[in-house]
Amino acid sequence: MADYYPRLSSVATGLRCACPRCGKGRLYQGLLTIRDICDECGLDLSRLNAEDGAAFFIIVLYSAIIIPVALWVEFTFEPPIWVHLLIWIPVILGGAIALMRPVKAWLVAQHYKHNVDDYNQ
Ligand SMILES: [Zn+2]
Repeated sequence: MADYYPRLSSVATGLRCACPRCGKGRLYQGLLTIRDICDECGLDLSRLNAEDGAAFFIIVLYSAIIIPVALWVEFTFEPPIWVHLLIWIPVILGGAIALMRPVKAWLVAQHYKHNVDDYNQ
């Protein structure tokens, strides 16, 4: 029973940037580099890879939210272009950086969840 790990929510482990198997070990070393092995349960994390999926989801999310809001600001207040630059550059960059770690961790947890039988062999 020492090797039994209950299935964890991919959202919960993703938000905590934790190992998808044990939920205790840290997923990242550095900003976005995934560890080779979980320091808590020993899961081989190098086999889990989110590739560019996190960037894709963030681009789609931002396109759906930021563009309509920016258009609303433009047509409602008609600010000069420097106001748009002052508002949207920090919002886009800061939000993308803040979302990248949990979204990538969620995708890694989804990868683990849907290939979990491969890890139990
Ligand atoms: Zn672990």
